[in-house]
Amino acid sequence: ASRFEGVPMAPPDPILGVSEAFKADTNGLKLNLGVGAYRTEELQPYVLDVVKKAENLMLERGNNKEYLPIEGLAAFNKVTAELLFGADNPVIKQQRVATVQGLSGTGSLRLAAALIERYFPGAKVLISSPTWGNHKNIFNDARVPWSEYRYYDPKTVGLDFEGMIADIKAAPEGSFVLLHGCAHNPTGIDPTPEQWEKIADVIQQENLIPFFDVAYQGFASGSLDADASSVRLFAARGLELVVAQSYSKNLGLYAERIGAINVVSSSADAAARVKSQLKRLARPMYSNPPIHGARIVANVVGDPALFNEWKAEMELMAGRIKNVRQKLYDSLSSKDKSGKDWSFVLKQIGMFSFTGLNKAQSENMTNKWHVYMTKDGRISLAGLSLAKCEYLADAIIDSYH
Ligand code: PLP
Repeated sequence: ASRFEGVPMAPPDPILGVSEAFKADTNGLKLNLGVGAYRTEELQPYVLDVVKKAENLMLERGNNKEYLPIEGLAAFNKVTAELLFGADNPVIKQQRVATVQGLSGTGSLRLAAALIERYFPGAKVLISSPTWGNHKNIFNDARVPWSEYRYYDPKTVGLDFEGMIADIKAAPEGSFVLLHGCAHNPTGIDPTPEQWEKIADVIQQENLIPFFDVAYQGFASGSLDADASSVRLFAARGLELVVAQSYSKNLGLYAERIGAINVVSSSADAAARVKSQLKRLARPMYSNPPIHGARIVANVVGDPALFNEWKAEMELMAGRIKNVRQKLYDSLSSKDKSGKDWSFVLKQIGMFSFTGLNKAQSENMTNKWHVYMTKDGRISLAGLSLAKCEYLADAIIDSYH
């Protein structure tokens, strides 16, 4: 008998499991709208030209593969905080940001969760309902208690702003409030600038700590600055905050696992102490982070020509997704004779569309139409081409009615 007899089979991951099921399907019409990864119009993975150029530079320079310090590549940490807050932001000038390179968005969130668990015992993290599925896993594994605040309103397929504010207001003092910096996953519904101000008011009044997850900077609107405006608004109020960053989507560096955790404190002294503890938490978990992605980001952001090229490529990616979004809306509106208002598809932003399809309807999408998606009704528009919009609209209308 195996000594591992007591280990039960784990369920497949609800997001990554979708790709496995997609691979096993032999139908030629199949479409993978599960995982949030950018595809070209031909539905092929895409490596950005600026990434290839940065990698060529690294080869030419003969960069070595020595260990990084625990906190990561200094040149990366510098540019990543500047990209997030803006280089002239007082939080940077006053050295109030503790930045540590992380294993992409997930690893950075996990490190922040470990910091909360250790230095804010019993503090709760409020997460939106719904949210990216891995948030719950991350806080569960870090033994950080969490609860949900209202976010999505199924009646309007929009934001339940009143519910959100009420639930944040009711949170115990000292709780962390996890906010999606832009392009909320899975709903694609973001607060308006006025609503962000109100959210900041409540967080400030109730003595809560904002905790941003920024996985789509530049990818939502096509503008790096516009997509960081929520975070900058909070920083401008002098609030202390935590921000996790990811370069998976905006630089297409999914497998390089490059991101960062930034903790803004009210003093440079506190920031230095926080940074020392983040390093102490990282050391026994993974020792030090990988160098390749960090160098790519440092080269791209640190070089004005490459930086501009990146912005152009990002606009191209965001633009393709916007085109697909429009075409899907047009197809749904012209094909559906029920009079249903599909305009919510256009109001959503980022990589995803939250269709409002329930679990059974989402299963119909997969079982009958070979459209692979998460069971919460989310589809990744980054995995859709203009050519497939009509087919997808047929599948959605059939599943709805
Ligand atoms: N946070 C959100 C909201 C996401 O959607 C994702 C990826 O889908 C991530 C974080 C982290 O992704 P990664 O770990 O690849 O950076």
